Amino acid sequence: MFDQSLLNLSGVGEKLQETFSEMGIETINDLLFYFPNRYDVYEVKPLSELIHDDKVTIEGEVVHKPSLTFYGRKKSRLTFQVKVENIVIKAVVFNRAFAKNQINAGDTITLTGKWDHHRLQITVSNYILGQMNQSSEIQPIYGLKGELSNAKLRKIMRIALNQYGSMVDEILPTEYLNAYKLPSRSDALVHMHFPETHQQLKHARRRFTYEEFLLFQLKIQLLRKHKREAAAGNEQKFQAEKVEEFIDVLPFTLTNAQEKSLKEILQDIKSPYRMNRLLQGDVGSGKTAVAAISMYASITAGKQAALMVPTEVLAEQHVGSLQKTFEGYATVSLLTGSVKGKKRKEILQKVAIGEIDILVGTHALIQDEVQFSNLGLVIVDEQHRFGVEQRRALKDKGLNPDVLFMTATPIPRTLAITAFGDMDVSVIDEMPAGRKFVKTYWAKQNTFDRVIQFVLKELKKGNQTYFICPLIEESDKLDIQNAIDLHQQLRSFFEPDFKVGLMHGRLSTVEKEQVMKNFAENEIQVLVSTTVVEVGVNVPNATVMVIYDAERFGLSQLHQLRGRVGRGNAQSYCILLADPKSEIGKERMRIMTETTDGFALSEQDLKLRGPGDFFGRKQSGMPEFKVADMIHDYRALETARKDAQVMIAENRLAEEAYRGLKIKLEEEDVFSGQVLD
Ligand code: ADP
Ligand code: MG
Repeated sequence: MFDQSLLNLSGVGEKLQETFSEMGIETINDLLFYFPNRYDVYEVKPLSELIHDDKVTIEGEVVHKPSLTFYGRKKSRLTFQVKVENIVIKAVVFNRAFAKNQINAGDTITLTGKWDHHRLQITVSNYILGQMNQSSEIQPIYGLKGELSNAKLRKIMRIALNQYGSMVDEILPTEYLNAYKLPSRSDALVHMHFPETHQQLKHARRRFTYEEFLLFQLKIQLLRKHKREAAAGNEQKFQAEKVEEFIDVLPFTLTNAQEKSLKEILQDIKSPYRMNRLLQGDVGSGKTAVAAISMYASITAGKQAALMVPTEVLAEQHVGSLQKTFEGYATVSLLTGSVKGKKRKEILQKVAIGEIDILVGTHALIQDEVQFSNLGLVIVDEQHRFGVEQRRALKDKGLNPDVLFMTATPIPRTLAITAFGDMDVSVIDEMPAGRKFVKTYWAKQNTFDRVIQFVLKELKKGNQTYFICPLIEESDKLDIQNAIDLHQQLRSFFEPDFKVGLMHGRLSTVEKEQVMKNFAENEIQVLVSTTVVEVGVNVPNATVMVIYDAERFGLSQLHQLRGRVGRGNAQSYCILLADPKSEIGKERMRIMTETTDGFALSEQDLKLRGPGDFFGRKQSGMPEFKVADMIHDYRALETARKDAQVMIAENRLAEEAYRGLKIKLEEEDVFSGQVLD
């Protein structure tokens, strides 16, 4: 019934149907759920409260019939006087000549428009004859195309609601409607389009917000469940005592947050479901330590583990420290593009017969030629470098390992549970005791000379420095030119005493690796780089990072960059060179200098930027909601998530009261068993 054509509505002809089609509205149902973009509120206020240049609404009595003047072609100007609270003001209406005959002396009229305080004049954008029904009126404003006007859409909406509105079925179980005091679906629908009071609108929005979140959460949780069931069979019986012993010999005690995350991971490893978990934690919070213990657990179950990192240099660094950590416990080997010939063959063979327990490398790890004897766990450092394709490649080899993604991008929990809805999330939100924080300063660009002197002092102590240039697009020539120019400039300052290297996205992978390696080995003391260095290397000897045009970065990215320093024992510094124009820009710089907590920063970032920006437009697989707002309605999202969990765990969807929800989910193919990856 609701998939009927719009032509069934009186007032809709073929031309209008076409316009609606451009707006994505094909059926009656589409129309009913085409919600306003925003609402204008008209509230009559006394003259004394009106603000110059604001849009205001006033009510008064027409003093005399309007006078009309024409100018230009088809342009007109209608003026009349209105008495408001015994003061006579002037009203001007443009290009609505017809209004002349509707407005008569003595009429009560409500005018909305821009207020000119000095002339006591209102430029009218909207008027209503008589008083408003309410002390305030809420007018929905729709996104429109073609010739369609807001008024016309409202008229058609009214017709559609009258004819079909009452047939809109409830889909939420009564139990939940009652518990949250939500209006019925059909009432809420009417109130979205024709709210009479703020209360009505608020509850209608609350209802649809919950409905959208609940459906979304049911969907991703069901998909996750299917995925897990489809992947059943990788139960790993690790030896708990051995794992305990391994933890005991580590040179530190785990933080509570590490303990908690580890427990969640071990639980997954033990269970027959394939782990698909994201481990989040600030740089230096101890993720790799947790990953190492997890790998060891897998090894005690007779399996192998693989650690994938974004760059070869990083892989080499990891192998070095892991070999120390695992001495006497497990064998660790490196496999990257630069491991060649006989050595490579030997490693491949050992991996194939299970003589190597842990293999560390880049993407090459899952190439065709690498055959594991019994791969149980894959750890992926910086999740955005490992996608659907890599997972598929593993699957194609008949491997179904548990997968743990690690990221130092502190994603606010709000986003994590939506964006990565089909993943479980563990969070390390606590730093090991005694960490030195990176001291962060904000400097104006014209203090560059002083910055150079500061850097020079650090270089003379034997430390190294990063200079970061913004790079918004990988292909942005101008930005790369900036880096090249800065490189030249800094060479003239520092060479020949200190060597200055350059890195940007236009270099080949091999070239990039070489530059990073040179920096890691202290053959270069100053590295000028675009943001490609973000996930680059661990150089404990680098103590200063200077970030150019810092206002062009988001807070999270600045924090991520800053994490490149402060990795050794010496005090480290981050200098933000920026002349932000806007207040928000200045605020961001201040926040950076005051906050070292990545999660707090990311929450701030989210507030200042919004979720789309947060992930960058390209990679944002963010769900879109019509009514709900992930940040603003964060608590509703949490509620919906928990409700969805209960519904699925108790298999409620099979019950009659949940029929509506089930049908909705069926429409989205959630039950087809289709597995996402
Ligand atoms: P991440 O991978 O999150 O950047 P790492 O696991 O590499 O962090 O840890 C950073 C440093 O802190 C390493 O030198 C590691 O040995 C050390 N570390 C890890 N966990 C702890 C802890 N609980 N207490 C003290 N030091 C720790
Ligand atoms: Mg498992």
